[in-house]
Amino acid sequence: MKLQKPKGTQDILPLDAAKWQYVENVARETFKKYNYGEIRTPMFEHYEVISRSVGDTTDIVTKEMYDFYDKGDRHITLRPEGTAPVVRSFVENKLFAPEVQKPVKMYYIGSMFRYERPQAGRLREFHQIGVEAFGSGNPATDVETIAMAYQLFQELGIKDVTLHLNSLGSPVSRAAYRQALIDYLTPMRDSLSKDSQRRLDENPLRVLDSKEKEDKLAVENAPSILDYLDEESQAHFDAVRDMLEALQIPYVIDTNMVRGLDYYNHTIFEFITKVDKADLTICAGGRYDGLVEYFGGPETPGFGFGLGLERLLLILDKQGITLPVEEEMDVYMAVLGAGANGKALELIQAIRRQGFKAERDYLGRKIKAQFKSADTFKAKAVITLGESEVEAGQVTIKNNATRQEVTASFDDIMTDFGAILEQLN
Ligand code: ATP
Ligand code: MG
Repeated sequence: MKLQKPKGTQDILPLDAAKWQYVENVARETFKKYNYGEIRTPMFEHYEVISRSVGDTTDIVTKEMYDFYDKGDRHITLRPEGTAPVVRSFVENKLFAPEVQKPVKMYYIGSMFRYERPQAGRLREFHQIGVEAFGSGNPATDVETIAMAYQLFQELGIKDVTLHLNSLGSPVSRAAYRQALIDYLTPMRDSLSKDSQRRLDENPLRVLDSKEKEDKLAVENAPSILDYLDEESQAHFDAVRDMLEALQIPYVIDTNMVRGLDYYNHTIFEFITKVDKADLTICAGGRYDGLVEYFGGPETPGFGFGLGLERLLLILDKQGITLPVEEEMDVYMAVLGAGANGKALELIQAIRRQGFKAERDYLGRKIKAQFKSADTFKAKAVITLGESEVEAGQVTIKNNATRQEVTASFDDIMTDFGAILEQLN
């Protein structure tokens, strides 16, 4: 019997969860400024929602899906990414309707599942923060969405992230490029990895995305997609570049970046950082103007990104960035003697109801051990409640740093604990 977590998964314990919450809150606050609202879609989808939109020949669909047939014989998959489900939901809920303000801007935070070989920053259940904007083909949408990710990194204090930018152009220019790439790669077919030989037949742009050494070598001098952009695609790309420059967001052009999903067109980007000398992508996204139509909605442009939370936290850690998650406690109550147990509960509940963070002893420990707990919890004040205090109907409350004390009646504690704490400041 296996009583351990499945391979490639993680337990996030409270001390770590505090960091997750902090990062998620910064993201929520940042996205709010850009008028994004949260969307929550199911953790699993019909297999078809993912397969053709992400791409039948992509690694995600061919190798990494957690799919199964449920008891009703439906082909289901745990979601491997967030964009296809959000687009499915956008169409299903008719958010394309004219009365819904455009662009529709939505973000999500949640688990994604991919059957991968686990390693640093690569898990089987991982978490993404992602955003999607529907209904604007304006290059300003591309740039403000990229700027939003950039602002998030800045607010978290992350250094040395490089924005990699490319364009996949329109479907027409992409088709022209596809042929050029086939012409370039076919003579060196035998030097490609087995996977890439297959990719060359099925989806040649995928070869550019390969992580195999021999493939990376082979594509070094590959033709550039940027030489195949049609006029409209070129204009869009130029506008994006100009706007990034106007906002002083540095970037490099990376013509071999094609992204691991098939639904993109025009702008694609990744934010890449180095971890132990290896490149790691934290955030990736782009424009997907055909996806809403693919799901049966009206022609609607889209732009979005997905950001890996584990990788973000890994990078924060590697860069030695400490997040402000240290928590103090307002008051700790030492409880002495069984006769004080009930009153301790009443008082501590009254204190919590007034909005303070409070903890008490439950275990009848020696007073020294209880005071030690107060220190461990970083309690600002300590109340000592024994049977004689219960009889007298009052306690002394001590400032745990200055040792200053005040005496207060149970009534005062029940009605205005804040006023008592103020006397201790
Ligand atoms: P990679 O090339 O590293 O496999 P990808 O192209 O498959 O990434 P996307 O599908 O674009 O990744 O997902 C967006 C982001 O989600 C990635 O940039 C990364 O930060 C994160 N991510 C993707 N797969 C994993 C995983 N298995 N474990 C942890 N994070 C992941
Ligand atoms: Mg991948």
